[in-house]
Amino acid sequence: MSRFSDRLAAAARAREAAGLTRRLVARSGAGEDLLDLAGNDYLGLAGDPRVIEGAVRAAQTWGGGARASRLVTGTLALHAELEAELAAFTGHPSALAFSTGYHANLGAVTGLAGRGDLIVSDAHVHASMVDACRLSRARVAITGHHDLEAVEATLATRAEAHALVLVESVYSVLGDAAPVAELAEICARHEAVLVVDEAHALGTAGPGGRGLVAGAGLSGAEHVVVTGTLSKSLGSQGGFVLGSAAVREHLVNVARPFVYDTGLAPAAAGAALAALRVLRDEPERVDAVRHVAASLALAASTPEPAAAVLSVAMPSAAAAVAAAQVCAEAGLRVGCFRPPSVPDGISRLRLTARATLTDAELATATGTLTRALTTALAAR
Ligand code: PMP
Repeated sequence: MSRFSDRLAAAARAREAAGLTRRLVARSGAGEDLLDLAGNDYLGLAGDPRVIEGAVRAAQTWGGGARASRLVTGTLALHAELEAELAAFTGHPSALAFSTGYHANLGAVTGLAGRGDLIVSDAHVHASMVDACRLSRARVAITGHHDLEAVEATLATRAEAHALVLVESVYSVLGDAAPVAELAEICARHEAVLVVDEAHALGTAGPGGRGLVAGAGLSGAEHVVVTGTLSKSLGSQGGFVLGSAAVREHLVNVARPFVYDTGLAPAAAGAALAALRVLRDEPERVDAVRHVAASLALAASTPEPAAAVLSVAMPSAAAAVAAAQVCAEAGLRVGCFRPPSVPDGISRLRLTARATLTDAELATATGTLTRALTTALAAR
């Protein structure tokens, strides 16, 4: 074996020994027999006929791909329509679509901070924001989860003129909500810009699913920028940044994941636009997903989550795996997060609510969950 193969094999053995091997999880498609409480299709829109129709029509009209980057010939009327409706729905002056939410975070952060600037980041932000910090070449200060005093002290004592503060509005694994209003106030006082990733909040939190920034009355605030994804509540693929027209114009010019990337695929844009219209016209879906989340929380004896993500802390990685296994055997798919995916080293089950769960499915889910947790905790 070559040294390269040896190296890969050693890494695989170390992962296996630590019980940390990751495996791809297949979805069986239509007629799936597992009840999925691990995905992010919070409003049940990924399979909605209107959303599928939106994708099909967009592909028929615009083709399989955007054919070029947005600054060459890849800007479609469909992109403009999606951006206008995203901005109108959330109350922000403007929106810019990216190929993924990951790209949106990379673009927003690296476009708004660079060498000589400061980024203050909550310890639990998504990997895309972590990577964005690394790419930015700014000085990065990581603060404890929701530690407002640390954020304020870091901003107050900085040498850099320009600073960004990065948080998620609803945290992807912990499921809790950031104190957005307080953070925005601190940022305003210290002349910093707050970047809020609303990936898990759009469609599930804030008025009519408009997110926590809208809920705090901060849409349109000059120093608040929102990032998000089209791949969760909107059941499609892609991402976006919301903010002032000046922020949008700046990112169009300098955000490398925007400038050098092919425009968002027409089918993805069309599906997202159709889903956004369903969300706007059927706000009862937002209430439904929150009701399901509250029922799951009750079954798991955890506090009611801020939106659709339920996080159940487990005493060990083994207990988390055992509980997930009991769920799987009973036909329930839940997420199982272990180090290194959890920065604080606490293994967790991650369950997600879906608005379209039937009463019977919800009863099965809550019963199974209670049993799985009792079994795993007794066996540890
Ligand atoms: N931000 C957060 C908080 C996320 O959870 C995710 C997706 N896991 C992303 C950004 C990236 O979004 P996308 O999947 O559209 O790339």
